[in-house]
Amino acid sequence: MNDEALDGYCGLWCGACEIVKAERNGTQDGIAGIFGVEPSEIHCRGCRSEDVFAGCSRCPMRACASTREVEFCSDCPDFPCGEYHRIASSDDSLPPHFRTTIRNLGEIREKGASEWRRLQAGRWACPSCGRPFSWYAEECSCGQDLRGRKDWEKL
Ligand SMILES: [Zn+2]
Repeated sequence: MNDEALDGYCGLWCGACEIVKAERNGTQDGIAGIFGVEPSEIHCRGCRSEDVFAGCSRCPMRACASTREVEFCSDCPDFPCGEYHRIASSDDSLPPHFRTTIRNLGEIREKGASEWRRLQAGRWACPSCGRPFSWYAEECSCGQDLRGRKDWEKL
């Protein structure tokens, strides 16, 4: 079983991740250069899948949430913990898409996880062709301009 599981415990939507996208599209070469790894190391089907990118497989939050058997970090009695503040803080060294986590966990609480997954898949789909795009995409392969659609820029 190697299905995609795109809803991170922390509220990140793995469906908009460059690594997940590169594996889907067979475009591992470019992103491998950015990460300084071999293209064969660029593979991931999401935080909860059986095939997690090496960088994310070491995520302390992922390990913590799975040990505590919570569906999302927001279900944890210690939420928001110090580790959570670190990833959700916008003035941190982590990439800016991590800013979406707190907002996303709020939406999960409000609307339920399955509705949130549906909304995220729509939010990160090209308005012209429907193909998923990633957090940092500027243009879809169909030519649609995607600048201004990065919702983390508004957080
Ligand atoms: Zn498109």
